[in-house]
Amino acid sequence: MAKTDKVLVIGGGVGGLAVAIGLHQRGLQVEVVERSTDWKVYHVGIIVQANFVRALNMLGIGDQAVKAGYAYRGARFCAMDGSVLEELPGDTAVDGLPSDLGLTRPALHQVLTAKVRELGIAVRLGVTFERFHDDGDGVDVAFTDGSCGRYDLVIGADGNYSAVRKALWPEKKPRYTGQGVWRYNVPRPAGLDWSDIYIGKSGGKAGYCPLTETDMYIFAVFEEPGNPRFAPETLADEMKKRLEGYGGILGEAARAIVDPALVVYRPLEACIMPAPWYQGRVVLIGDAAHSATPHLGQGAAMAIEDAVVLAEEMSDRPAGAALDAFMERRFERARLVGTSSIQLGEWEMRPETAGDPIELTDRIRKKLAEPV
Ligand SMILES: Cc1cc2nc3c(=O)[nH]c(=O)nc-3n(C[C@H](O)[C@H](O)[C@H](O)COP(=O)(O)OP(=O)(O)OC[C@H]3O[C@@H](n4cnc5c(N)ncnc54)[C@H](O)[C@@H]3O)c2cc1C
Repeated sequence: MAKTDKVLVIGGGVGGLAVAIGLHQRGLQVEVVERSTDWKVYHVGIIVQANFVRALNMLGIGDQAVKAGYAYRGARFCAMDGSVLEELPGDTAVDGLPSDLGLTRPALHQVLTAKVRELGIAVRLGVTFERFHDDGDGVDVAFTDGSCGRYDLVIGADGNYSAVRKALWPEKKPRYTGQGVWRYNVPRPAGLDWSDIYIGKSGGKAGYCPLTETDMYIFAVFEEPGNPRFAPETLADEMKKRLEGYGGILGEAARAIVDPALVVYRPLEACIMPAPWYQGRVVLIGDAAHSATPHLGQGAAMAIEDAVVLAEEMSDRPAGAALDAFMERRFERARLVGTSSIQLGEWEMRPETAGDPIELTDRIRKKLAEPV
């Protein structure tokens, strides 16, 4: 089998852009198709840790990500009144760069798209695949704009509701985990340099994470029986209800939740694929392969680690051998993050079965500091 030269990436999100950058840097010819026409991402923030910074640094954009975000000291677990129960300080994985970072989704998108543009990688917006056929030597793809192409490898980086996954594994679908997450950006109190997680309330947890010099975001993850839909005008009141009973910085900051249009609510749906995440010359990465809940703040890092490892394994070798090596390095790590994230949510919903969330979080953070 010949080595891989020409690659199609379906999905221009976190993992898709990262893998396009990594493969281009290793000399492969990469094209990206992205379904959305405006390529915008919603305004809230994400929490990331040392392995995210390290993976982006391997793509040459660690510095830019750090500058686009806000570095803080680590995670603290707090009681409902805000008193600190335990500090889990971040451990840097790259000399000179911090570990724990909060950044807005648009800021991360800007860092990735700027690099893609700088490298001149072809991105077609408002386009996706209509069908593909893998004949063993290559994949013929027909696109929704009427064009077609032939590729040595197709990467499905099209997120939690992946159409590529559906085409190859129609029985694998995201499952509602029983919880939903509420998010809202508020002013950051001066001097707040930790992301705090308040535990002890039945059904979930809440907290905040610094995003910039001036802003942080509040998150509240709670059991939402029956996976309800909420009327848009009720979202601020609904979020505030979930934050009732909290004291400390969280209780104070929650007063700023006033505009229902700025509340971002998402039911949590997860889909962790068994190995392998590929069939022939079509492979899934990121959420398409292993979407989890945000309890460990690892979704973006896992997608970027997938991208870095796939790019490393893909250089100068045939697709089959590269994909086996990719799975060997990625499956257990992504599975551990996914199942542990879901476990934390289960414990929140069923406290009678609960283990120790602080110990589990600390153990996974340390594990992920190890090289990919
Ligand atoms: C509520 C919530 C909170 C989260 N918080 C965090 C956090 O704090 N920290 C963290 O690290 N992660 C967090 N995550 C997870 C993180 O957002 C994802 O894991 C990460 O974005 C995965 O990257 P991805 O590239 O796989 O998917 P995405 O970033 O979702 O990108 C998929 C891309 O594919 C495009 N697309 C979709 N379908 C098609 C198609 N058929 N054809 C072409 N393009 C398509 C989409 O438009 C999108 O651009 C959170 C997720 C949720 C839902």
